[in-house]
Amino acid sequence: MGNTVVQIENLVKRYQELIALDHFNLKIQEGEVFGLLGPNGSGKTTVINCLLSLLRYDKGSIAIFGQPMNPEQYAIKAQIGVIMQNVAVLQELTVRENIDYFCGLYITDKAKRKQYVNEAIAFVGLEEFEKFYPKKLSGGLLRRLNIACGIAHKPKLIILDEPTVAVDPQSRNKILEGITELNRQGATIIYTSHYMEEVEQICTRIAIIDKGKNIAMGTCDELRRMIHRTENITVETAELPDAVLKQICALEYVYEAAFADNTLTVLCSGGKHNLVKLLEIFAQADIAFGRVYSERPSLNDVFLEITGRELRDKE
Ligand code: ADP
Ligand code: MG
Repeated sequence: MGNTVVQIENLVKRYQELIALDHFNLKIQEGEVFGLLGPNGSGKTTVINCLLSLLRYDKGSIAIFGQPMNPEQYAIKAQIGVIMQNVAVLQELTVRENIDYFCGLYITDKAKRKQYVNEAIAFVGLEEFEKFYPKKLSGGLLRRLNIACGIAHKPKLIILDEPTVAVDPQSRNKILEGITELNRQGATIIYTSHYMEEVEQICTRIAIIDKGKNIAMGTCDELRRMIHRTENITVETAELPDAVLKQICALEYVYEAAFADNTLTVLCSGGKHNLVKLLEIFAQADIAFGRVYSERPSLNDVFLEITGRELRDKE
């Protein structure tokens, strides 16, 4: 077991009547890429703001690197890199000047600072844009600048709050690869998102948040094992007689089957050869089929089964 980097216990945060965080608990170890996954409004940003002592909270305790966190803990803050949800760069400074400014808040040695700024520019791939002002940058490039400003001083703990929202696929991949690389270089990462695919892709452990509560926590596989469903099968077919659908429903490990829009959807719990048995029924009934998929449950399925609601935003 590594060192505990972040420990949050019984955190309660109210905004007037609204309970934004409801006895929230979290423990993150050194070297993790820890994902906070939850729908919009679930409390992710509130957790980050409390963690950084940017926001007062009503109850609970927060320790970072084993020390109680408070607004005067400058030594701790110097070890943290923060990339906020809303891009926060200075409009009157160029790309290079912005990174230099934020790096300079923590790194005073001039030569070292210059080297760090160069490394940060290369890291996010903004070499060709270093003389640009923020308003000349596309959304994706602006996000990359925001990240460079947060990581240039080489912090041990890096917190990214929804860094890929409204970002083009190219910049998005660059950002995700960058996060993995920062972790390889030794940083512990906290990553918030409402995109389950991203969290599945890069996080070593995940907490699923809903309505200010940590409702499930573990590795992606551990989370999948928490639910009833083990397999989602879909089969494209033009027609499916009711009698055949009934036969499919009666298969041993099938607990739900539905046919709509030329697609059969089958949910299974347990069993090893569900797809084979299903296709045998198709063969016996002499029904043609198109594409066939068998998938493990997604984190959306985990969220759905625990809360009864979809995690996914319709975008
Ligand atoms: P997330 O980051 O997961 O989208 P937030 O932490 O921003 O969620 O918000 C959690 C809840 O707290 C939401 O219901 C939001 O509307 C509410 N909230 C956030 N900030 C404030 C504020 N300054 N005043 C009142 N309510 C707030
Ligand atoms: Mg947020």
